[in-house]
Amino acid sequence: MHAMTRVADLLAAGRTFSFEFFPPKDDATQLTLGRTIAELEPLSPSFVSVTYGAGGSTRERTRNIVTWVAKETPITPMAHLTCQGHVRSEIATILDDYASAGIENILALGGDVPADFADHPSDYRYAVDLLEDVAETGRFSVGVAAHPEVHPASPDRATDRKHLAAKLSRADFAITQFFFEAHHYVQLVAELAELGVTKPVIPGIMPITNIKQIARMASMSGAQVPAWVTEAIQDVDDPAEVRRVGVDIASTLCSELLEAGAPGLHFYTMNRSTATREIWANLGLGVS
Ligand code: FAD
Repeated sequence: MHAMTRVADLLAAGRTFSFEFFPPKDDATQLTLGRTIAELEPLSPSFVSVTYGAGGSTRERTRNIVTWVAKETPITPMAHLTCQGHVRSEIATILDDYASAGIENILALGGDVPADFADHPSDYRYAVDLLEDVAETGRFSVGVAAHPEVHPASPDRATDRKHLAAKLSRADFAITQFFFEAHHYVQLVAELAELGVTKPVIPGIMPITNIKQIARMASMSGAQVPAWVTEAIQDVDDPAEVRRVGVDIASTLCSELLEAGAPGLHFYTMNRSTATREIWANLGLGVS
């Protein structure tokens, strides 16, 4: 294991470069994820994170991947954890489990509870409620989610920033939802600074490999796919060419963000390594 495994410490020491995965549903996709992690390991990421199905639908699978990464690879893992649809005792058990497995990083999220969870008892509503419980353990470096283009449930921009600032006053860092133009990030950081919050905000990068899928994800998360991005990709049929254009767009965005002072980059890999490795090479980040 790395000697330094708290994301807060890694950020204090310099820029972080991280990858996000989701728990696969079956054996075949599990094998794909194993191969992806093996292909990304030589890039020596600062950390990798594993998503958590809202309401606890991937509770075991998220934990298994996070603890596997900690035991079997030299990479620092971070577990995502959503709180809606959970009672306090469940969250306490999950946090205990992670602490005993040596996991030191949690991304504390509200989560979107699926319709069939609507009647499930929940002691939590917002990420900030979970933050209290995670902080109380004193065992974890804690991150939160930020939405540069405003969370879709926020009534307005100022309210969105106020709640984010409240989360960041307790958390160590934030990771953003994906976006395609650097000004969204720059504006978010400026708005937080106006509220007196200067904790690191790591931009989330989504390389486009499939425009329909990205448009669907963007509409759910409150992000816009700008017309120039859609136009650059919509008439391209060859998947390899789509990836090439998507990688070019993401590489330019990453350079602009680093130039603007971003404390790191967090890649939404969709459990594949090629696009991320190509962006990595374009940025000249090197391989160990
Ligand atoms: P919260 O902070 O809970 O906020 C949600 C909404 O409520 C916002 O509009 C906010 O302004 C408002 N709000 C917050 N606090 C208050 C308050 N005290 N009073 C009134 N309103 C309030 N989802 C998953 O299911 N699993 C994952 O693993 C996952 N990983 C993610 C990783 C990243 C980096 C990001 C950006 C998102 C991720 N999500 C994940 C999506 C996330 O769960 C959704 O955005 C969800 O809708 C809200 O959770 P939150 O933590 O973003 O927001």
